[in-house]
Amino acid sequence: MMILCPNCQQKARITSRNALNAEGTIADLYYACTNTKDCGATFVMTLAPKHYLNPPVTSTAQLAQNILNNLTKTEHAALVQGR
Ligand SMILES: [Zn+2]
Repeated sequence: MMILCPNCQQKARITSRNALNAEGTIADLYYACTNTKDCGATFVMTLAPKHYLNPPVTSTAQLAQNILNNLTKTEHAALVQGR
């Protein structure tokens, strides 16, 4: 993903990264503008997941198991038989 300098809109490159959580999925990314002659700005952007478009398979399986565990025997039988 190309990031543009917020000052001159030229390409910027990552110079370093600082993880903000133990998993390393949230981080501050340090950028330097490549337009060193006329700009030379450095800035920080935060990288973080926003939300899932599709949940992980393990979450889906766990969700289904939790639902099944809360069904009565009659409800479970009807579900299995497709009624
Ligand atoms: Zn710039």
